[in-house]
Amino acid sequence: MDELTPEYPVEEQELVRRLRQFIVLRWLAAVGIAATALIAQRVFGIRFPIGPVLGVSAGIAVYNVLFLAWDRRRIGRLEEGNEELITQARRFAHAQIIADLVALTVLLHFTGGVENPFFLYYILHVTFASILLPTRGSYLESGVAVGLFTLLVLGEFTGLIPHVPLEGFMPTGLYRQPTYVAVVLFAFITTFGVLTWGTTAIAGELRKRRQELVELKDRWVAQALKLEAANERLRELDQLKNFFIGVASHDMKAPLNAVASFLNVLLGGYAGELTDRQRTMLERADVRIEELVTLVDDILDISLMESGRLVVDTEPMQLRQVVERCVEDVSILSREAQVEVEVEMPDELPEIEGAPQRLRQVLTNLVTNGIKYTPPGGRVAIRVCEHPDHLQVDVVDTGVGIPAEDQPYIFDAFYRVRQTKAIKGTGLGLAIARRIVEEHGGRIWVESPYAEGQPGSKFSFTLPKHR
Ligand code: ADP
Repeated sequence: MDELTPEYPVEEQELVRRLRQFIVLRWLAAVGIAATALIAQRVFGIRFPIGPVLGVSAGIAVYNVLFLAWDRRRIGRLEEGNEELITQARRFAHAQIIADLVALTVLLHFTGGVENPFFLYYILHVTFASILLPTRGSYLESGVAVGLFTLLVLGEFTGLIPHVPLEGFMPTGLYRQPTYVAVVLFAFITTFGVLTWGTTAIAGELRKRRQELVELKDRWVAQALKLEAANERLRELDQLKNFFIGVASHDMKAPLNAVASFLNVLLGGYAGELTDRQRTMLERADVRIEELVTLVDDILDISLMESGRLVVDTEPMQLRQVVERCVEDVSILSREAQVEVEVEMPDELPEIEGAPQRLRQVLTNLVTNGIKYTPPGGRVAIRVCEHPDHLQVDVVDTGVGIPAEDQPYIFDAFYRVRQTKAIKGTGLGLAIARRIVEEHGGRIWVESPYAEGQPGSKFSFTLPKHR
């Protein structure tokens, strides 16, 4: 088990990882002790019994094998996230540190005791313990180190334990000088007190911060999952809404179309002569029905826009037909509104690749807007011109114009300019028009006012030429 589970507390993951590094380091320590002892004797001529020192080195190697087995058999086999792992890991840490402290004490005993400056090595163990273990554990290890060293020093001082001198290193006999022994022990104990207090405080703070970070991450992940679920639910509801809108609009269209065709029969005179008054009323009814059909179509398109493309089938086509149909579409409306519609178009135009019905929808929408937002007596012009790689259509009116601050938003669904809210509308037409133009590979924009000193607006869109 090389990687511990992320749910597992970070400090324990860290602990187990470090303990494994200690096992590796310990092999080096065992070899290092033997090598240092031999060099001290052969190179520096320091005399001490080499046998016990090599014995301690071998002992370290032996208990390291046991630790390795412990790790493989117990810790490595514990399931990820198992509570037992925490207890085992801490026990494993204490066992390793205490074994090392004992080994160091025995080694010091055979190499001069208090006269051997290597007693500083206790500091290494206690520092590692303070970083890796909780506060109580660190104080325990610090206490063991102080206890073992004090026992050794006082044991040798009192003669309870034989002193093994380091001959040729420095004047021996220091171990029996009360002042020296007292000062060393005092320095040792206070160093360890302050060291353990300082390192545990810092390590504890770091551990707390790390835990907080982990908790924060967990909370963040949980929040993200919740958001994801909520999003998924919203998507489902949105699809459901589109489905209902689709069904409802579809069901509304059939009766509307029936009414429209009856009106056409009546207006065509197929059901008998009409008086002028009747004709006017039926024409108004026809315009209203047309408006309603457009509204239902717009709502259907908006729901379609959210789930897919509006332009599905395209073909090589002439823009001229679109313009002509559009003029027919708006004829009654323009007459009623007393707004004249005029067309400026070259005789010859290249083909474009497009969906005729959809482009008719775009143009009719722009021209209808031009008529709607232009006072009686005004004009709406449809101008088509050719550019090297595209055609451009401008719909220019002499109407109320669009304030500059509204212009960036008028192509958004449901956006309506405040000043024109009295005029009936939904704010859907331009959003659909933009989508259709863009799906054709073109661009749509507005300029208002479109020329110095001129009222009104100019809507333009481009369509790439057919290649
Ligand atoms: P609708 O006309 O149904 O409100 P549109 O999406 O077609 O929706 O237009 C959005 C808004 O842009 C309109 O409400 C109107 O305020 C403004 N607008 C569009 N065309 C013109 C125009 N030619 N002149 C002035 N205002 C316009």
